Amino acid sequence: MANNEESRGLKSLLDWFANRRKSGSTTPERQEREIADGLWHKCSKCGVLSYTKDLAANQMVCTECGYHNRVDSDERIRQLIDANTWKPLDEHLRPTDPLQFRDRKPYIDRLREMQQKTGLNDAVVTGLGEIDGLPVAMGVMDFRFIGASMGSVVGEKLTRLIEQATLLRCAVVIICTSGGARMQEGMLSLMQMAKVSGALQRHRDERLLYIPVLTNPTTGGVTASFAMLGDIILAEPKATIGFAGRRVIEQTLREKLPEDFQTAEDLLKHGFIDEIVPRTQLKKTLAQLIALHQPSSTIATYVNSQSATTHNSHNVVLWDTRSLSSTAAD
Ligand SMILES: [Zn+2]
Repeated sequence: MANNEESRGLKSLLDWFANRRKSGSTTPERQEREIADGLWHKCSKCGVLSYTKDLAANQMVCTECGYHNRVDSDERIRQLIDANTWKPLDEHLRPTDPLQFRDRKPYIDRLREMQQKTGLNDAVVTGLGEIDGLPVAMGVMDFRFIGASMGSVVGEKLTRLIEQATLLRCAVVIICTSGGARMQEGMLSLMQMAKVSGALQRHRDERLLYIPVLTNPTTGGVTASFAMLGDIILAEPKATIGFAGRRVIEQTLREKLPEDFQTAEDLLKHGFIDEIVPRTQLKKTLAQLIALHQPSSTIATYVNSQSATTHNSHNVVLWDTRSLSSTAAD
């Protein structure tokens, strides 16, 4: 931990760069290069520079303004799932090109390029793991892969994940982000909406818990299906969540839409989602919600494992639904 003097000294990294420039040890060009090298990260919201390692330690949330930078599926799993408990499912599923679709480039080339760039076969990673010792089936969408658009593989992997969770009688968490259905797969991608929704209904029939977490951006066919079918729907602060894009709606209605239209905050105000949870609180919140929906014996074990001071295992209310709403409100 830095002492006060150090933290004052490092308070503004812009000052630090300015001092270095004055002393001749850096130039604007060199500064640009250091940002490009990934040593420093310039916040796209407030413009403050922070040391990439510090930003990563804060789960890629800007310490200055709270902006939630996008994270990939690997990082997300690291943030949420207990170490050494993650077992990926259906990693072998790969997309095909049934329509031999071509836009600016053939779909098959686009897929190959994305697979090389991301190391993923398609835009979702699914698996079983534990959150604070509680079993969970989790799907994480990855925006790097064609904007996390939902094609046959995304739909199939999520459906299999949910079916597995129904068999194992465990909760499902899906970290959603998506530009919508994958147009290169046409009707086949639209069919995934119904398929995943059907699997969720069977999971629900067994009275099991499903929590979607909506991150920036969650749009199109994903919003129109599993993102909005949660028992409890969470979102990250300031996430854009919607079906059709703002511009399309403005042109159709010939009306200017309010500034906060399609933000998590606006959706919360209108009852579309249940809570906004900062990323740094997300693991704890998910663990609390999943524990609350476990059979009572499991809750007792969980509460005891979390709090050495809780002696009465029936006293679950002790355990903090108030902090849940207060942490999420800001
Ligand atoms: Zn910022």
